[in-house]
Amino acid sequence: MDKEIKERVFAASYQKSEEGKEELYNYEKNKIHGVDDLANYNSLTKLPVLRLFNYKSSEIVKAYPELRYAVIVMDITQFKAVNEFLGRSEGDRLLLFIAGCLNDYVENRRFTVAGHMRADNFCLFTAYTNEEELSDICINIKRRIKTLSFAYRVIISFGICACPDERPAIPYLKDCATLALSEVKGKYYADYCFFRDEMRTNMLREKLIESDILVGLEQGEVVPYIQPKVDMITGRIIGGEALVRWKHHDDGLISPAEFIPVIEKTGIIINVDRFMWSRIFAYQKRVIDEGRTPVPLSLNVSRMHSVEDKLAHRILGMQERYEVPSEYLILELTESAFAMDEKNMNEQMKELRRSGFCVSMDDFGSGYSSLNMLKSRELDEVKIDKEFLSDMDNPKCRIVIRNLISMLKELDVKMIVEGIETEKQKEFFLENGCNRAQGFLFYKPMPLDEFDELMKKESR
Ligand code: C2E
Ligand code: MG
Ligand code: MG
Repeated sequence: MDKEIKERVFAASYQKSEEGKEELYNYEKNKIHGVDDLANYNSLTKLPVLRLFNYKSSEIVKAYPELRYAVIVMDITQFKAVNEFLGRSEGDRLLLFIAGCLNDYVENRRFTVAGHMRADNFCLFTAYTNEEELSDICINIKRRIKTLSFAYRVIISFGICACPDERPAIPYLKDCATLALSEVKGKYYADYCFFRDEMRTNMLREKLIESDILVGLEQGEVVPYIQPKVDMITGRIIGGEALVRWKHHDDGLISPAEFIPVIEKTGIIINVDRFMWSRIFAYQKRVIDEGRTPVPLSLNVSRMHSVEDKLAHRILGMQERYEVPSEYLILELTESAFAMDEKNMNEQMKELRRSGFCVSMDDFGSGYSSLNMLKSRELDEVKIDKEFLSDMDNPKCRIVIRNLISMLKELDVKMIVEGIETEKQKEFFLENGCNRAQGFLFYKPMPLDEFDELMKKESR
């Protein structure tokens, strides 16, 4: 640290003691035991470890509170693979190269500290005047890494937290930069990302969902709704889809579109799906026990089930327990369920189809679904996605739908269209020979009891 900074730090800490905040400052200082302690430096790159990085950066903030500061964190995608494929010494060479780039900034840019947190995680603290300077640092480091002759394509990602406030807390800046990093990490099309406040809000929301969903399951906040499916010619209900609803004790109804992606990350979706399936099996059994004939109900099967090889076993186990014939249940999967472990998923579906279950491909035409899957998968039905319907004024879109319908007919795959909201859409699909539909024009998803009442009325 240069002399000028040291003097300003001394003056600032003296002022601080007058404010009565010196205790905290001393505590931090004692933790460091002196900046020359070897334990405060990474043994390979000799860059400060996190503790010293925080300390040195805080000293600068204290000395120059009027400046604006940023923290950049960086991470190499699949650094482990570098070590595994090329050997540890090549991995070390890469880390030393990055440390060299960071040291250049420390030497040539004032108010800058570099840190090496662990393995392939580095950070840089620096004062800045505009955000472009910060993105330029990332672009420059990336460019320099490209010049390194290396037998592996190194992808480095950066998260930046540029703090407009005076006297920011360094660990907070670093956490925010890490959050921004997670937005771009491993993505080939983006190099860096600036922290925005909504990232923190989203993160907190995700944490709330993660921590509350299991309690919600136990306490009856998670319930099945059913959206009826209809035959558009007769208007009769021909089935239904089970859709999960979460009535959170404080936040009210949380949509599955919001909480399912979160619980898919943690695997808790498996619990939610099993809960939903057992409720639907139990309901179908009740209908049969009351002497009525159930309509087939669809169960959504998250793609996360593709990692377990007991999916078929579990569903068959439930069937045995509730004694519901397979014809009254349909399994809805999206193509992504096959993308993760295609071989396993095909085997599971084969077994379930052998036992009489119908497999339906959900959201066909949205995202990444490919025509190729129509010929190769274990498939009985295709659900045409509502995405198609949003663009039906486009003549090309109508050509695609028309031909999709005729192709499905020729392939002898059943079909149903999802998301019908208008008479015009209904007419178009009827004219082209697709009679089965699910959509708000007919029914919205409703609680199980309401669906039951509706079915009782229908059968009268
Ligand atoms: P999905 O399986 O494709 O379900 C159909 C979604 O389209 C439902 O949204 C339904 O309410 C909505 N929908 C139906 N007709 C219309 C319409 O005419 N207009 C519009 N705008 N929307 C319509 P929902 O219930 O919000 O569920 C969203 C997604 O969450 C589902 O899409 C499914 O992927 C997932 N999901 C819901 N429940 C479960 C579940 O129990 N397990 C799993 N794994 N996923 C579920
Ligand atoms: Mg579905
Ligand atoms: Mg769908």
